[in-house]
Amino acid sequence: MNGTNFFLAVNFIIALSFFVVFVVVSTRSRSRIAARWIAAGFAVAAFSTLFELMVAHTDLVKVSAVGAFASVLGGLQLLRVGIARLYGDRISLSGQVLFFAVWCGIDLMIYDLPRGTVAHAFTYQAPFAWLALSGAGSVFRSSRKLPVDWALAALLLLTAVHFVGKAALAVVVGAGETARDYVTTNYAIISQSATGVMVVTAGLMLLAVLVLEIMAEERSNSEQDALSKLLNRRGFENHVATLLRGAPTSPHSVIMCDLDHFKNINDTYGHHCGDAVIEALGELLRSRVPPSAVVGRLGGEEFAVFLPNIQLAAAVPLAEVLRASMASLSIPGLPAGFRATASFGVAALAKDQSLPDAMRDADRALYRAKADGRNCVRRAGPAPPALSIVSGEVR
Ligand code: GH3
Ligand code: MG
Ligand code: MG
Repeated sequence: MNGTNFFLAVNFIIALSFFVVFVVVSTRSRSRIAARWIAAGFAVAAFSTLFELMVAHTDLVKVSAVGAFASVLGGLQLLRVGIARLYGDRISLSGQVLFFAVWCGIDLMIYDLPRGTVAHAFTYQAPFAWLALSGAGSVFRSSRKLPVDWALAALLLLTAVHFVGKAALAVVVGAGETARDYVTTNYAIISQSATGVMVVTAGLMLLAVLVLEIMAEERSNSEQDALSKLLNRRGFENHVATLLRGAPTSPHSVIMCDLDHFKNINDTYGHHCGDAVIEALGELLRSRVPPSAVVGRLGGEEFAVFLPNIQLAAAVPLAEVLRASMASLSIPGLPAGFRATASFGVAALAKDQSLPDAMRDADRALYRAKADGRNCVRRAGPAPPALSIVSGEVR
């Protein structure tokens, strides 16, 4: 087995391994369709190595040489469609079919040209370079710009340059006169090994994009409450911890709230109506708090709002607005006159306090709100006389 045959065999195994990995990843990925296009791309590209071996070792030289070109082209086009799907870019499938047919025709036309000429070398590599370049375009146009996306775009540009470089190298060092000569040249060894490296790197980078996406999704699922679509307790605590790392000393506030007599709502109207009330309060909290706030459903019918850089004196009136809005909210699926209420406890997160300290204070204030008859707001600590609202709603 000469060097080229060896690289062909290695490339074949690598491409098939990536095919299997992308099929497996597609079963877990949100970008399932993209992963399948990419898997198909590696499967089709793998056949090019078999065609190259057939060029060297059978009499079907022309058919095999065009087959090798067509399978690299088809494989790259499938990858190109996968990348477009992954990055939400529009791509015309009929345009791709036409592109494939035209370039296979051109390859047949240039077949008899000597391999190392400018005309043959650059024409042969042009569609590959274009596909890599336009793949980078899809990544650049997308709004996804994580470091791994930049790395993929850069790699695709490099791949495009590599195809042009291969054409230049074929002209400089020679790629054999005919398709069969090619397999025995040093150029073929360099070309196959360079492409092998690009295939592995591009495959790993695409895999990294998909795996990071799966990890982000898993993390977001593990931090989200399915019913209210708010953060769950773990998500709430993680998000607040991140904010506190950024602004550890500013005055912050925490609001805790709990639906009143919720068990009665379940018992009277059914569990699904209780769920509708939880959803309604979740939506109300989400829509009425400042964008920087963190809102979570801590469990059952209990919710928390973390207000970064907002003092207790401003958090208490906000809690009062939330309470009043809930008390006047008509909830779909429940009788028209039905109104659910909630009780609220508000506490400051002082600079020497932790989140659990502030939540405990807010919970105590919430407990007082319940004891004071529900559907009201209470603040942690002794209420300063100047701030108490005499109507009895906030003390
Ligand atoms: P209080 O005013 O003192 O808060 O009384 P309450 O009835 O709201 O509180 P209690 O803790 O006695 O009851 C809470 C009920 O919430 C009991 C539980 O069955 C119900 N619950 C917890 N999670 C869910 C849920 O996801 N959906 C529904 N429908 N009910 C839930
Ligand atoms: Mg309750
Ligand atoms: Mg409760």
